[in-house]
Amino acid sequence: MERILVSACLMGRKVRYDGGAKTSSDALLATWRAEGRLVPFCPEVEGGLPVPRPAAEIEGGAGGAAVLSGAARVLAADGSDVTAAFLSGARSALALARSSGIRMAVLKEGSPSCGGLSIYDGTFQGRRTPGQGVTTALLELDGIRVFGEGRLDDAAAYLRTLET
Ligand code: SF4
Repeated sequence: MERILVSACLMGRKVRYDGGAKTSSDALLATWRAEGRLVPFCPEVEGGLPVPRPAAEIEGGAGGAAVLSGAARVLAADGSDVTAAFLSGARSALALARSSGIRMAVLKEGSPSCGGLSIYDGTFQGRRTPGQGVTTALLELDGIRVFGEGRLDDAAAYLRTLET
């Protein structure tokens, strides 16, 4: 059975920067959870950041690939550089996926770690820009397909291709 890496906050775990969760009530996720497919993971907590913590954004809204290459940093709203923690969390996510034979993930859209289509633009003004988070970028570099929580139909279609 294919297992799916999933953002822990979508599963109701209170790991977000504000101390809350972003629990998804989607029926597909509920089905996959009941089937025992889901492997919850929070890269920011695994990277060593506390809950709660200051919000963080990639400088310039540059995207996760730029962070992986050293071209951009991840900065917290208090000005501190949290790049190392984000990189560590992304590597831990990849290590878990590899050791578990995971080939796909459902991650929280908009996050500087988990975002797939959009992230915040680095100004802390609540503005989004197209781009991926650090964990998403690293997973996809390794061939692991990442779907946002708003693209579960696409994730289900991909799951079917993996299982046929
Ligand atoms: Fe959720 Fe990912 Fe942010 Fe952790 S890093 S709180 S799993 S969006």
